[in-house]
Amino acid sequence: MGGFIFQQVDKYEAARERMVTQQIVSRGVKDAATLRAMRKVQRHLFVPREYERDAYDDTPLPIGYGQTISQPYIVAYMTEVVRPSAKKKALEIGTGSGYQAAILAEIVGKVYTIEIVPELARESEDRLKRLGYSNIICKYGDGYKGWPEHAPFDIIVVTAAPDEIPQPLIDQLAENGRLIIPVGAPSAVQELILLEKKNGKIEKSRLTFVRFVPFRRL
Ligand code: SAH
Repeated sequence: MGGFIFQQVDKYEAARERMVTQQIVSRGVKDAATLRAMRKVQRHLFVPREYERDAYDDTPLPIGYGQTISQPYIVAYMTEVVRPSAKKKALEIGTGSGYQAAILAEIVGKVYTIEIVPELARESEDRLKRLGYSNIICKYGDGYKGWPEHAPFDIIVVTAAPDEIPQPLIDQLAENGRLIIPVGAPSAVQELILLEKKNGKIEKSRLTFVRFVPFRRL
């Protein structure tokens, strides 16, 4: 017999496929690159061990420090809406587990991501490095100010909900860029808003209602 290779067996492949077909495709997400990324990224590697078996359920999950990894469908929906492609550069506010950053990094050229909880910033940076995402640049800090050194961004994804859209993020959006953000009071239902910059002007659309963790300030 040949040598035994210690290759990581992906015991959740079937569960992940069910997640994509039953939660994401069924609700109308069609973008091929987004679906490919959702099929590839092993969500169970982004949740605490005690939730590993729930990783492909239709729900957000706790990741510690009062924060959550978003529901898979919401991650897919937000990814599709910002129209990711290989040449684009993305900024994410709220790295959390690093899952949304990984999904974007499967499609776009480069992802910059900022997390305000120092422990989560360190954990997600370690995780993304371990998983080989050399095109994700992590930073600890308050994402309110964006990341001016690397602006403008074709895509800005905010995964925590402020009362109002931070002006620096609007300023750092590239021409033809898309910014998606949940807006609303922490205890209430929030609205998912899409901003597009066209000829220097901002167009706003209200997409759907969501519930995200609050956007914090340092
Ligand atoms: N995208 C994450 C979702 C994490 S929940 C994932 O895929 O797992 C949202 C995250 O936003 C939390 O980790 C929270 O700590 C972080 N956050 C809240 N306010 C922030 C701010 N001003 N700047 C950066 N991160 C922030």
